[in-house]
Amino acid sequence: MSDHRNMLPEVKEHFGRVRNYVDGEFVDPEVERTQAVINPATGKAIAEVPMSTKADVTAAVDAAQEAFEEWRETPPNIRVQPLYRLKTLVEENYERLARIIVQEHGKIIDEARGSVRRLVDNLEFACGIPSLMMGDTLEDGAAPGIDEEFIRQPLGVFAAVVPFNFPAMVPFWFWPSAVACGNTFIVKPSEQVPICQDQIWELIDEVDFPPGVINMIHGDKEAVDALLTEPRVQGISFVGSTAVAQYIYETGTKHGKRVQCQGGAKNYLTVMPDANLSGCVPNMISSCLGNTGQRCLAGAVLVLVGDGADAVVEQIVSSAKEIKVGYGLDETVSMGPIAAKRHYERVMGFIDKGVQEGGKLLLDGRGCKVEGYPEGLFIGPTVFDHCTPDMTIVREEIFGPVISIVRVPDLDAAIELANGSRYGNASSIYTTSGKAAREYKYRVRGGNIGINIGVPAPMAYFPFGGFNDSFFGDLHGQGKDSINFFTERKVVITRWV
Ligand code: NAD
Repeated sequence: MSDHRNMLPEVKEHFGRVRNYVDGEFVDPEVERTQAVINPATGKAIAEVPMSTKADVTAAVDAAQEAFEEWRETPPNIRVQPLYRLKTLVEENYERLARIIVQEHGKIIDEARGSVRRLVDNLEFACGIPSLMMGDTLEDGAAPGIDEEFIRQPLGVFAAVVPFNFPAMVPFWFWPSAVACGNTFIVKPSEQVPICQDQIWELIDEVDFPPGVINMIHGDKEAVDALLTEPRVQGISFVGSTAVAQYIYETGTKHGKRVQCQGGAKNYLTVMPDANLSGCVPNMISSCLGNTGQRCLAGAVLVLVGDGADAVVEQIVSSAKEIKVGYGLDETVSMGPIAAKRHYERVMGFIDKGVQEGGKLLLDGRGCKVEGYPEGLFIGPTVFDHCTPDMTIVREEIFGPVISIVRVPDLDAAIELANGSRYGNASSIYTTSGKAAREYKYRVRGGNIGINIGVPAPMAYFPFGGFNDSFFGDLHGQGKDSINFFTERKVVITRWV
């Protein structure tokens, strides 16, 4: 162990085996399968995660179903009180949670802090449910003496299945709103990064939800399949890769559930010749390389329009070279490792493929070594120039610190390229022209559009949309869409006789 590592404040060397939380209690499920949680910077196991079985899921659904009737009758202003208390507790534990995220996921400490902040935003949004889930009435709406009333009602047990890349935040896109609306809930964290949820559930345990209202089950496909086929589960919110999103959507809807699935992405950053480069290149770099490229809103393809492309390429490469790669708990580091071995191998494979397919490799992140961390899954910033639309590195999601540059003659060609993608999560344009910006937001098929901003992340009160293979379902996560997802909408017509 290097001196440098010794200086970094660790939270714990090992967190033990994480537990499920069912019916208001932590439980250690009896399982045959477990998996080690590896710190991707040090290569060390820092926890163990149980792979829950169908019986574990059934126990959670029993508890959630049992809790539902009384919870739905609890007035909404009372239902949100534990969320207010949880917000305070999360804020008090802000730094500790951020440090845990770095250790299990690898992102740098500032990115981890930002993700905890976004978690809190979602709690704040859900605290507004008493007014947000109100209905409407119209006197004499149908005829004289016949009033019409629109109401929202909770449905029962919901569940969320979430990815590895934002371990703390993503479950909070769903469960606080669902529970505030009067439903009960089961979260299935990513088995790669279960520790911060374990620690957050310690806080949830303190805020006195009635037993069974909020539950957590650790595991993998076995647990997810049990949720998908369990008749009492009313709906599933999923975030993860497109292949799994499609599977969850098909299986869940086949079993009569409401399903919303946010899938993978390949996001285009279009740079017009009139873009303010000094103001925008740092933003492009943080879009493509922030979170080590493991963000569903990360820029992945830089589309340079018209003349002046060489100047952009030069600035991108020189800024990317400045990135300091290392362990995220070191405050001077600007990019952490890839989160897990299988992702690391996948990203390396894509870089090899880019070379084979003829991309001009201007910066090669393979072979990146960080002193003191020989086992770390580090890949440095990688830049390919002169890519063509048919190349794998332009078409497929890499989910790593790889920038593929395509040069096109005009805005029409840039929009055609973005709209030719199988995905449609995010897309951004850098320009000082209002006309070009308007054209882009009008025509590009993407759920989240950025104008001079490379990570167009919607705040908690806006929906998180997506087109094509980036989204399956009708109602998006977050915002008012999520209130529609988590409630049944009824119209009541009264004739006053
Ligand atoms: P993943 O699809 O491998 O896993 C996501 C979840 O699904 C995990 O909880 C996992 O246990 C479960 N799962 C995996 N395989 C399964 C199977 N065969 N059957 C049932 N359940 C299964 O995704 P990941 O690697 O954890 O996350 C990265 C992906 O998530 C990227 O593609 C990224 O773009 C996407 N993502 C999308 C958004 C968005 O808003 N669109 C946000 C974050 C991440």
